[in-house]
Amino acid sequence: MSDILITEKIQGLAIDALGQSYDVKYEPNLWQNDAALRDAVGKTRAMIVRNQTQVTRALIAGGNSLKVIGRAGAGLDNIDVAAACEQGIVVTSTPEQNSLSVAELTLGLMLALARHIPAADRDTRVGNWSRQKFTGVELYGSTVGIVGFGRIGFLTAMRAQAMGMRVVISDPVVGPDAATVNAVGGYVLPLEQVLGAADFICCHVPCTPSTRLFFNADRFAQTKQGAYFINTSRGEVVDELALASVLKSKHLAGAGLDVRSTEPPTASVFDQMDNVILTPHIAAFTDQAQDRVIKAVCLDVAGVLEGKTPNYPA
Ligand code: NAD
Repeated sequence: MSDILITEKIQGLAIDALGQSYDVKYEPNLWQNDAALRDAVGKTRAMIVRNQTQVTRALIAGGNSLKVIGRAGAGLDNIDVAAACEQGIVVTSTPEQNSLSVAELTLGLMLALARHIPAADRDTRVGNWSRQKFTGVELYGSTVGIVGFGRIGFLTAMRAQAMGMRVVISDPVVGPDAATVNAVGGYVLPLEQVLGAADFICCHVPCTPSTRLFFNADRFAQTKQGAYFINTSRGEVVDELALASVLKSKHLAGAGLDVRSTEPPTASVFDQMDNVILTPHIAAFTDQAQDRVIKAVCLDVAGVLEGKTPNYPA
């Protein structure tokens, strides 16, 4: 029996410190092996995961001694929280510790798309010096559409505003007079108006049953001709075939995708598209964000094992 089971690559000083007080079993590849995962979950009091371990109802049912599941990161779509609650298992996450890094990557993708930075880099490395070919657009004066105006949407909008962009927002729980909307000089509009007005559409909705395939062919058809689409939330909220189709037809000028419907993804049409920037779900991977995330999850998991209330319960 271990105290704490870590099923993915999660390292840092806070994990080392945890090891001084608890029996920590570090198995970074366990998420890939269903049988071994089930076996290990049956023999631990706590587990720490990122987003690759699928913590299903069946897996939780086998966690006879399991008291707490700590999710190092934001988004609980890989954990059956209801099943955990029914079994009296606490689920914790780190909802705000990596938001800033995600917002920064979103802005990075926006700039990289607007100025064709990856394509220009590839072209220059093979000996070309094609200046006109990579003529871009300025962010200044353009409109960013933030779909999902929570923590990350707000931080992205603040940065976009600082670049001189106009901010339009779609979020069912955000009113036009919310302090966060005023802080970014934004306008809350119906989704179709946001899609129709935005030169850059940034997707920041969580993945839930109601947002799965949220960006489908109908929604992409409502976007402005020549707009860019950026997804740093979850791949499952986008119908990737529909996105590929509007990119191929040049209705959308480009896309930046940090997340994919299957991760790691299989080969896809995006791989051959020069106007698509692909990153391997790295939005939260900065030294600072990882430090904050790992400290927070360790604190909460140890706290629950000691009978304390967690800071970030699901
Ligand atoms: P949050 O809960 O603070 O905000 C999400 C917002 O989306 C909420 O305000 C909610 O009302 C809104 N929303 C829900 N359904 C909507 C809809 N149909 N239309 C418009 N808005 C809708 O979450 P957050 O911290 O901003 O994170 C957003 C998501 O980003 C997370 O759920 C997670 O999936 C993802 N994320 C990705 C990474 C990464 O590494 N790429 C890292 C952290 C988080």
